[in-house]
Amino acid sequence: MTINDVREKLQQQISQLISSLDQVVQMYGMPIIQDKNGNPLWIDVREMTLRYQIPIKKVQKFFEGLKEGKILATKCSKCGTIYFPPQDDCPKCKISGLEWVEMPDEGELVAYTIINVKPPSFSHYQDYIVGIARMKNGINVTAWVNSKEVKVGMKVKLRITKREPENYLTYELIPA
Ligand SMILES: [Zn+2]
Repeated sequence: MTINDVREKLQQQISQLISSLDQVVQMYGMPIIQDKNGNPLWIDVREMTLRYQIPIKKVQKFFEGLKEGKILATKCSKCGTIYFPPQDDCPKCKISGLEWVEMPDEGELVAYTIINVKPPSFSHYQDYIVGIARMKNGINVTAWVNSKEVKVGMKVKLRITKREPENYLTYELIPA
């Protein structure tokens, strides 16, 4: 599957939803349906497209690192604070141009949640787990947990992976 396949499938679902809403509006005069508990739900029929554009010039090295198999964080040379995801400014010291350091790959899961109800832009994924791991350097990393079984306190590894179907590099937690 490519991003375009996903987009087409979503578009189909949206058009189906909109045409059934059209019928509801014709019958009741308003886009009100019942949720699964029988409670009335107002459904807005306006579509909104969201496109992300995030300037990454100051943290470009992070993405280059992923390509080289490294997961990088930034560190303030003045106060020693490590930032992950990396940022180029230390708000405590009000300085920029932080150092780049590699993240340790070992950590321990401190919290997780299983996402069954996904936001529309994530609806093409199977249910997934988002966890927070305390890494060896004391930094908490929030990432998808790629594991069938999951429990707080389990040892995890931070690794680079390819997110499908978008086919881009990202990082995830796996059992150690
Ligand atoms: Zn600092």
